[in-house]
Amino acid sequence: MNSSKLIDGKAVAARVLAQVKNDVQALKRDGIEPALAVILVGQDPASQVYVRNKILRAEEAGIRSLEYRLSADTTQAQLLKLIAELNDDDSVNGILLQLPLPAQIEETRALQAIAPGKDVDGFHSENVGGLSQGRNVLTPCTPTGCMQLLEDTCGDLSGKHAVVIGRSNIVGKPMAALLLKAHCSVTVVHSRSVDAQALCRQADIVVAAVGRPRMIDARWLKPGAVVIDVGINRIEEDGRSRLVGDVDFDSALPHVSAITPVPGGVGPMTIAFLMKNTLIAAVQQAHAQAQPASSEAPCLSIS
Ligand code: NDP
Repeated sequence: MNSSKLIDGKAVAARVLAQVKNDVQALKRDGIEPALAVILVGQDPASQVYVRNKILRAEEAGIRSLEYRLSADTTQAQLLKLIAELNDDDSVNGILLQLPLPAQIEETRALQAIAPGKDVDGFHSENVGGLSQGRNVLTPCTPTGCMQLLEDTCGDLSGKHAVVIGRSNIVGKPMAALLLKAHCSVTVVHSRSVDAQALCRQADIVVAAVGRPRMIDARWLKPGAVVIDVGINRIEEDGRSRLVGDVDFDSALPHVSAITPVPGGVGPMTIAFLMKNTLIAAVQQAHAQAQPASSEAPCLSIS
């Protein structure tokens, strides 16, 4: 395998986390201790693993974490009450509501209840709207992590043609908005696109966020394209369970100039940018408290 083509998400995530840790230490010297509240409703096994990992990373970065494990029969009113309390608590900077939620809870309503300044997942409509207007707001962790990988790999993205495969609210749409903000020409393809493969073959940058194992092979890729594979799909193969992306890695590798592996590509970036968003939220809240009259978001003094 040509390892020079591999985009090492683990290494980049470690670098981002190390920088967050440094910045957190500096904030603590100024008497500010960033804190992240993580809410898990129910006992979904995958969500429990994600929450445990998020809390571990927070501790490593020096971010205080508060964990709220609510029973699967929690009512919407109970969840909204907890979110309101966390919104009002000045010692909490970020609130993460682990998805999916049980059926009795309306996801949009719960996410909209989180104060936009504490919305470290970047899912509140105020942050979604701010991103589409090109403002500096909290942006969703997975696409923000993808942007870091792309900037590390390609440098200036201006003028590149990017194709995003998938249009979900958590990956595809914010990814497209971030690429547009970075001055790419952006095409979004989805399940209704006519000849998605031909559209994709025109791209300098391909971001695959579909949720279909190995759907994208060499036939979808222009020679020399840079490929970011967001997909995480568990499959049974050769008698064992393994994780694969939306891109057929072995088929794509000879055609591309760079590609993320699965696992070890985008996955680690998501948690790293959750920590970075918590840090950004803490800095913004500290600035807002110091300058209550200012209506403009302050410039961030973090790296
Ligand atoms: P969704 O299921 O919400 O969205 C999938 C998107 O793919 C939809 O927009 C859908 O189109 C589109 N799609 C489906 N089939 C096709 C097709 N044949 N051709 C073109 N487009 C198609 O998934 P998510 O965005 O939540 O996640 C995508 C993948 O990313 C999953 O594997 C998920 O596990 C992974 N993921 C990884 C993360 C990480 O940290 N690495 C974080 C989040 C997700 P339409 O809208 O028309 O239905």
